[in-house]
Amino acid sequence: MKSSSRRTFMLTLAATGAAVSATGAFAEARLDEKDPQAAALGYVADSAKADAKRFPKHDNAQLCNGCALWQSKPTDTTGNCALFPGKPVSAKGWCSAWAKKA
Ligand code: SF4
Repeated sequence: MKSSSRRTFMLTLAATGAAVSATGAFAEARLDEKDPQAAALGYVADSAKADAKRFPKHDNAQLCNGCALWQSKPTDTTGNCALFPGKPVSAKGWCSAWAKKA
């Protein structure tokens, strides 16, 4: 491979990788509110949309990124939850298993 074609190849590879990364093609699928386990726990990607009738003790200040089961950085917009391995949850989400981070 000539130097110029190797350079072109590397640039193409970098551009393709950036495009794939930008579309999230390699990212794990976010937890769907309709996922059976998520629905059973009343998970919502926006804590403010939690079902107040079903969960009267819910508070809008309770967010996934403040939950003891949140396993990512507090500043991440999506993160891992111990209850939903492989299905990232929204930092601003909530479910009925919410427990205040110590
Ligand atoms: Fe969010 Fe905590 Fe429920 Fe996981 S257990 S979905 S981090 S509220």
